[in-house]
Amino acid sequence: MEILAILVAAGRGERLGAGRPKAFVEVAGKSLLAWAAEAFQAVPAVDALVAVVPEEERALAREILSHVTKLDAVVPGGERRQDSVQAGLRQAPPGFDGLVLVHDAARPFVERAVIEAVIAATREVGAALPVLPVVDTIKRVRDGRVLETLDRSELCGAQTPQGFRLAGLLRAYQVAEAAGLTVTDEAMALEQQGARVAAVAGSGRNRKITTPEDLAWAEDLARSGGRL
Ligand code: C5P
Repeated sequence: MEILAILVAAGRGERLGAGRPKAFVEVAGKSLLAWAAEAFQAVPAVDALVAVVPEEERALAREILSHVTKLDAVVPGGERRQDSVQAGLRQAPPGFDGLVLVHDAARPFVERAVIEAVIAATREVGAALPVLPVVDTIKRVRDGRVLETLDRSELCGAQTPQGFRLAGLLRAYQVAEAAGLTVTDEAMALEQQGARVAAVAGSGRNRKITTPEDLAWAEDLARSGGRL
């Protein structure tokens, strides 16, 4: 086994206001978690999948993913994203020295090309993620007051999957945890140590479903057969 994908789906998803964990919300009759799992199942280079879900949803997740033949384990997540990711990493087989891909289950429409670009860059550099340049002018705002405008020419939104050599990611987490650092994505743990992280082209379809508007967009995309 060379590539293990970890689908993190243990967030509460409160901004979506759906009354249940976000990954279990359905788009065109299929949960976000199943959409994301099928995207990884379809990539030949991906050997196995681990889903990280809220403790009380494990049975439901197993049922939703029963057709996903690459699924290895469904494990409970933790309080912070990094707790959930580390719970997934513990499922790597003993002696595994391959790559891990960490993906938000809330990004159901990730394309095969994006996953494969991340894999290629991770093989080469050791860490990689897809990015999308920001289109808005970005301001730093505090208490309703604009503090400054950032130079957007180098600003990008970070997407997933984020790829790493398992050993490198485990080491980065060890250092981050020892320093009491909360990271908002996995690459941040490596960046803190000055490690190189490659950026590859992300995509608009790989949008994270966060708000009811995102969900309506996803529904339209799914129902139009992906031709939006
Ligand atoms: O909250 P946010 O949208 O940034 O979450 C991104 C992904 O991380 C989601 O798929 C969510 O389920 C997952 N997550 C998790 N465990 C947490 C927090 C978030 O698995 N404690």
